[in-house]
Amino acid sequence: MNRLILISLLLSPVLVLFSCMREIKNNPAADDIDQKVKELLSQMTLEEKAGQMTQVTLDLLTEGKSPEKSNEPLVLDTAMLKEAFGKYQIGSVLNAANNRARDRETWNRLIGRIQEYALAHSRLKIPVIYGLDMIHGASYVAEATLFPQQIGMAATWNPGLISRAGEITAYESRAAGCPWTFSPVMDLGSDPRWPRQWETFGEDPLLASAMGSALISGLQGSSNDPGDVRHIAACLKHYLGYSQPVSGKDRTPALIPMSVLREYHLPAFRKGVESGAMAVMVNSGEINGTPVHASHELITGLLKEELGFKGLVVSDWQDIEFLHTRHKVAASHKEAVKIAVNAGIDMSMVPYNFRFADYVVELAGEGEIPMSRIDDAVSRILRVKYLLGLFDRPVTKLADYPDFASAEFASDARRTALESITLLKNEDDVLPLPADAKILVCGPAAHNMRPLLGGWSYSWQGNLVNEFTEGYSTIYEAIRDLSSVPGHIELLEGVIYSDTGEFRNERKRKPELLAGKAAKADYIVICAGENSYTEFSGNDTGLDLSDNQKELIRIAASTGKPVILVLVQGRPRVIRPVEPLAKAILNAYLPGNYGGEALARILFGETNPSGKLPYTYPKYSYSLEPYYHKHTEALKIKGVPCGTTAEPQYPFGFGLSYSRFVYSELKPAKKEYHPGETVRVSVKLQNNSGREGMETVQVFVSDHYASLTPPVKRLRAFSKVMLQPGETRTVNLEFPVNDLAFVNRENQLILEKGEFTLSAGGLSQTITVTETRVLEGKAKQGDPD
Ligand code: BGC
Repeated sequence: MNRLILISLLLSPVLVLFSCMREIKNNPAADDIDQKVKELLSQMTLEEKAGQMTQVTLDLLTEGKSPEKSNEPLVLDTAMLKEAFGKYQIGSVLNAANNRARDRETWNRLIGRIQEYALAHSRLKIPVIYGLDMIHGASYVAEATLFPQQIGMAATWNPGLISRAGEITAYESRAAGCPWTFSPVMDLGSDPRWPRQWETFGEDPLLASAMGSALISGLQGSSNDPGDVRHIAACLKHYLGYSQPVSGKDRTPALIPMSVLREYHLPAFRKGVESGAMAVMVNSGEINGTPVHASHELITGLLKEELGFKGLVVSDWQDIEFLHTRHKVAASHKEAVKIAVNAGIDMSMVPYNFRFADYVVELAGEGEIPMSRIDDAVSRILRVKYLLGLFDRPVTKLADYPDFASAEFASDARRTALESITLLKNEDDVLPLPADAKILVCGPAAHNMRPLLGGWSYSWQGNLVNEFTEGYSTIYEAIRDLSSVPGHIELLEGVIYSDTGEFRNERKRKPELLAGKAAKADYIVICAGENSYTEFSGNDTGLDLSDNQKELIRIAASTGKPVILVLVQGRPRVIRPVEPLAKAILNAYLPGNYGGEALARILFGETNPSGKLPYTYPKYSYSLEPYYHKHTEALKIKGVPCGTTAEPQYPFGFGLSYSRFVYSELKPAKKEYHPGETVRVSVKLQNNSGREGMETVQVFVSDHYASLTPPVKRLRAFSKVMLQPGETRTVNLEFPVNDLAFVNRENQLILEKGEFTLSAGGLSQTITVTETRVLEGKAKQGDPD
C-alpha cells in the first residue's frame, strides 16, 4: 500500500475523500505508446528531432516590438509561426504573452491556432505541447478557480483537498486549451529567506511527498491518464536542491552534501516520479559548484537511471544559455547546449530564439552529442504527447467544460482556504468574535486582493491581481458581509502596499487616525504581512515585518482594544516584537480568491480553524533551523539554553483550534521491529469541547543514536480527523520501519538498530529496531561533481 493511500485511509470518514484515495496506476496504454514512439522516431530527421527539443515563449510568436513584448490586442506573427513551425518544427510553446492572464475563450482559440498551424506544417503531424504555470489553479486564466498557494495547501494537512485542487486545475487548464502545467513545486521549503518558500509544500519531506502526490493524482488523474481531456501533465520542479542556496537568495549557489540532498530534498521528487509525473524541470542554481543543468550525475544518474524517471526533463527559463552567460561553465552558447543535453536535458525552455535547435543539429553532426541521447530526449517528449492524447485530440472544445468556474469548484477552493488558515494564538479565547462585534479592520492586506493571491496569479509577480478579482471579497469586505449588524465594520488601512516597484514598497495612510476610530470599536483586526512576489524579485534583506506595520500594531494595541493579527504572507515574517500585543494571531499564508471569506468565517467562528504550520515559524532572523535540526542547534546546559537555541516563534506542525483536543494512550502495536516491518501506532484523541473540530495527529520519531548525527525528530505519519463535541476516537497510524533509515556517509540508505522515541500530542513511547540493514545504495559515491 502506498503512503498516500495509507494517509487517506486514516482520514476520518466524515471528511469527503477525493479521488487521490485511489492508487495512482500506470497508464495501460503506455506499452502501445512506446511502439508508436519508436515508429515515429524512426521517420524523423535530425532537424525535426532538434525542433521537438525546443520550447519558445509565446511573446516570440506574436507581433510586437521585440521578442519579449507583444502588441495588444494579441496577433500571432505569421512570419514567426513560419519560422517556428515551418522551418524548425519546434515541439513546445510556453507562457502568457505580456505576462498577463487571458480569458478562457482567448486561450482556447490561441492555443488552438498554434496547434493547427504547427500540425499543418509538421511533415509527420506532430502536435505541439503548450505549457503554462498553472500554479494554484489555472492561474493564467481569468475567472479560473484559484486555490491557496502550495504553502497553504500543505497547511491543510489534508491530501484529499489537494487532489481535488489538482482535478479542478486540470479541468480548467484543458478548457483553456493547455495540457501541461509547470507544477507542483517539490522543493523543500526549509528556508524562509528563500523567496519561493510559499511555492513549496513546506519544510518536511513526508508532508511534501504526500501533498505533491495528491496534487499529481488530481492533475493527471488517479489512473494516471492525462489523455483524458479533463487531465493535464504535471511537472515536478525544480530538481534538485533549488530551495537551499547559502545566501537564501534565489538562484545563488548552494552547498549541499549528497547525503542531505538524498535524505531531505529527494523524497518528494522520488514520490512524484512514483506517482507518474510526466515531466521534471531542472533547478536553475548550482550545487557544490556544478550548475544542475550541467549535472549528468543528478539528471541522468539519479533521476533517470536510479529513480527510473521515464518522462521528459525540461530546462528552466533560458538556463541552458545561462551555463555560458551566467554560470561560466561553458565557453560558448553552443558548448552549453552540448553540456546540458549530454547531462540529460530533453527540452530547452530557450525561450526567445531558435539557436538551441541549430546547435543540437551541429553538435550531433560533429559527434559531440550522441544520436542515442537525442533519440532518448525526443522519445520522452513524444511519449508525453501521446500520453496526453495530443495526436488524437490536439485541441479542446470549450463547450466540453461547462463546469469551468462553477459554484462547486468555488466551494472546494473555499474549503481548502478554510482548512489552511492556522490559528497561532488565542489568548483568553478572544476568538471567535461575536457576530455583532464592532470591528475596525486595518492593515495593508485588509482591502487588497493582491496579497491574498501572491505571485503566479494572473501574472508572474501577482501585480495584476486587482484587475482580475473584482467579484471576490477582500478581508474587510468579507468581514463586513458576515457581520450581523450593518455599520459595525469599519476600514482604516493605515499602511498600504504600493502597486509599483519592489514588492516591499509600502506607504503610510493616516495611521494616526487609528486611535480615534478604535474608540468606537470592540476589536481591531490588523491584516499584515507582505505583498506578492516570486523568484529573485522576492529576494529580501531581512525577515522582519516592516516597521510601518509594526508601528500600526503598536498604535492599535495602545488603544487598549483587543488586537487580532491576521498574517497574509508568502514567508513567515518575524513578528516577535509585536507578538505580545496581539490577543489572537491567524496565519493565512496566501489563501487565494476565497481567502477573505475564509478568514471572516473563522473570525466569527462559523468554521473552526484546523490548519497547522507546514514550516517552523522563526522567532529571530538568525535562527532559521527547521524542526529537524541537530541536537547541537538547540543545546541546553543544565536546562538553560546556551545561545545556540533554535527556539521558534511557533514550531512546525503547530496550530490551535476552537475545540480542545486531549491526547492519551499513545501505543505502538509492539516494541521491537525488524527491517521491512510496519510500525503501527494508536492514540486516543478526545474533543473536550462543545464544538466539532478537526485535528491533525502527527507522529514524530527521534533516533536516539546513529552513526551520523541524527536530527532531533522527523515526522513519520499524520492523519487529520474530525471529532464531534465530546467525542473520543482512537486514531491509528502506521509507517514502514524502513522510513527510519537515513543516508549515511557512503550515501547509502541505512536502517541502524537501536532505540527510537515515538511522540504525538505530547506523549511518547520507545520502540527498538533490532537489526542494521543497508536498504539502498552502493558504497562510496561522492558528492555531486
Ligand atoms: C521559474 C519556473 C517557471 C518557469 C516558466 C522560471 O523562471 O523558475 O518555476 O515554471 O519560469 O515560467
